[in-house]
Amino acid sequence: MAIDNLVRKDIRDLVPYQSARKIGGSGDIWLNANESPYFNRFYLTDTLLLNRYPECQPKELVSAYASYVQLSLNKILVTRGSDEAIELLIKTFCKPNCDSIIFCPPTYDMYQVSSEIIGVKSIQVPLLDNFQLDIAKIVRYIGRFKLIYICNPNNPTGTLINVDDIIYLLEVALNNSLVVIDEAYIEFCAKYSVVSLLNKYSNLVILRTLSKAFSLAGLRCGFVLSNPKIIKFLLKVINPYPIALPVSDIAIQSLSKSNITVMKKRVVTLNTNRLWLVNQLSKIPIIQVVFKSSANYILVRCLDSYVILQELLKNKIVVRDQSKKLNLKDCIRISIGNKFECSRVIQVIKNLKN
Ligand SMILES: *Cc1c(COP(=O)(O)O)cnc(C)c1O
Repeated sequence: MAIDNLVRKDIRDLVPYQSARKIGGSGDIWLNANESPYFNRFYLTDTLLLNRYPECQPKELVSAYASYVQLSLNKILVTRGSDEAIELLIKTFCKPNCDSIIFCPPTYDMYQVSSEIIGVKSIQVPLLDNFQLDIAKIVRYIGRFKLIYICNPNNPTGTLINVDDIIYLLEVALNNSLVVIDEAYIEFCAKYSVVSLLNKYSNLVILRTLSKAFSLAGLRCGFVLSNPKIIKFLLKVINPYPIALPVSDIAIQSLSKSNITVMKKRVVTLNTNRLWLVNQLSKIPIIQVVFKSSANYILVRCLDSYVILQELLKNKIVVRDQSKKLNLKDCIRISIGNKFECSRVIQVIKNLKN
């Protein structure tokens, strides 16, 4: 059978998400997926009986996250990583071949990939030269999109988006669209979370994850924070059993008081490592720009990114090439590792002939 003719044409032509795992490579030092270099050893709390389906929204997990973010239970939805939430929002609010979303490249690729898979159009409004939102341009589309995805701090640039711009957007879009703030990295600059705005704006949706600051990328657990009405609609669409029992068991443990303290200490360490790395890289002539970052990665523009990537790879250090992304020619993104990993990056780049 001609499977090529059977498959949806847009799926046949789809460029799938290039995860760090898919790109692969070989190395000893992994600084390509913004994962944490630190880890806990988790054990299931008890012998789990797995013959029964889990709760769709494990109560104890929702409660644990509610107390971490200081919100009521009905403002929280647990998802299979925040990637599921990105898709779920589009499925719930956008009709295929009819409604649109907006996102602002260069940014996280899953907004585009998810909308394409679902068959929802996307409007791209590039970030300005300083990587801030082009508010004037976005506003011109008001009424023509259902969702706008804003990644804050933005991946891969590390930029903290002006909160005044976010508030302005929430106001002008109040009756027309949801403003989705992807706070995957917000623990690295916690005071810039817009959680406190949830009470004021019914069109605000916040995405969170345990994958980054909580060091649990392998767990696949994320959260949507929003008003109860929106959560209710998302619950109509979400898979019946998105959270496997071992996942909620470990997620609940990770949200204990002591584990949250551990997470916060690691954040301080990683932020210190980032400052060190920024400082060192700024002194290297073949690194042209080190962009200001508020997350656990930094974006740098090099004289020749290919040369640096190759040299790092030769030394078994894997970072992320961003040079093909909009306006990111010769840019690479380096996740912040432990002190040793950061030092190795500097050693290797310094050794390159300038
Ligand atoms: C890593 C990342 C995510 C994905 O989080 P998961 O919870 O692991 O699915 C979402 N948004 C951004 C911007 C990310 O960088």
